[in-house]
Amino acid sequence: MQTLVSTQTSHDRHGLYPEAVTVEDFRRNLASVQERIAAACRRAVRDPAGVRLLPVSKTKPEASLRLAHAAGCRMLGENKPQEAYRKWEAMQDLTDLQWSVIGHLQTNKAKLVARFATEFQALDSLRVADALERRLQAEGRSLDVFVQVNTSGEASKYGLAPGDVPAFIQALPTFSALRVRGLMTLALFSSEAERVRQCFILLRTLRDRLRDSAPAGIGLDELSMGMSGDFEIAIEEGATVVRVGQAIFGARPLPDAYYWPDAGNPKEHSE
Ligand SMILES: *Cc1c(COP(=O)(O)O)cnc(C)c1O
Repeated sequence: MQTLVSTQTSHDRHGLYPEAVTVEDFRRNLASVQERIAAACRRAVRDPAGVRLLPVSKTKPEASLRLAHAAGCRMLGENKPQEAYRKWEAMQDLTDLQWSVIGHLQTNKAKLVARFATEFQALDSLRVADALERRLQAEGRSLDVFVQVNTSGEASKYGLAPGDVPAFIQALPTFSALRVRGLMTLALFSSEAERVRQCFILLRTLRDRLRDSAPAGIGLDELSMGMSGDFEIAIEEGATVVRVGQAIFGARPLPDAYYWPDAGNPKEHSE
C-alpha cells in the first residue's frame, strides 16, 4: 500500500506540456502516456488492457486532430458539444474516427450530440436524458453514456451529488437509446494527492455499492476518472477510462476556468 499512497499528482506540469506539432510528437506523447498507464497498472496489480486512454482534443485545431488520428487515435474527447460538432462535420472523411462528448450538455444541444457522438460522459439530469432519447430515436441511433458524479463537493462542478445517483440510475431504463456504461467524475484540481484520491475512491465505492442493485441493462462496469495531472492515481483507484488532453496534445493557451465555466475556486486552481 505504501507505493499507492505516495503517488503524486503532476498538476505542476499543467500548462507546460509542449505543443504536439508532428505525427511523431503525437506518437511519442501517446507512448509516454501509455507507459505511465502501464506503470500505474503495475503498482495496482491491474491489467493495462482494462484501462482505455481517451485523448481529449478540446480547443485544439482540426490540423492537430488529424495528426492525432494519423498517430493512431480512433476516438477523441471534446467537452463542448458545438465545438465537437463542428470538428466532426469538418472531418467526415476520417470514417473510422469516433467522438466522445465529455462536458456538460444543455437540452437544446442534445440534437447535435445525438447526431454524431458515440459516447457521452456527462449525463447529470433526467431532462438531458429525455432530450437525448428523443433525438436519438429520431436519428435511429443509440449512445453510450456515463453518469457524471460530483465527487469533490465543489458547487461549481457539474454532476450529480453522490446521494442522488442511486435514484437516478433506477430511472435510466426508460431511455432505451442510452446504453449506460458507468460513472464519470472530475476530481478536485489540487496538488494534494490524498484529497484527489478521495474523489476517485468515492466514485469507485459508489459504483461498487450500486452495481448489484442496478436495473437490468444498466451497466456500471466503467469508471471514467483521471486526466493529465492525476490519471495515475485514478488508475490505482480503479479507473477504466482516463481522459487525457494536455499530455498528448500539449498545453492549452487558456486557464481551465475558461473551459469549465466557474470551475473550482481560485485557490485550488492557482496551485
Ligand atoms: C479537458 C478535460 C480533460 C482533460 O484534461 P487535461 O488536463 O488536458 O488532461 C478531462 N476531462 C474533462 C471533462 C475535460 O474537460
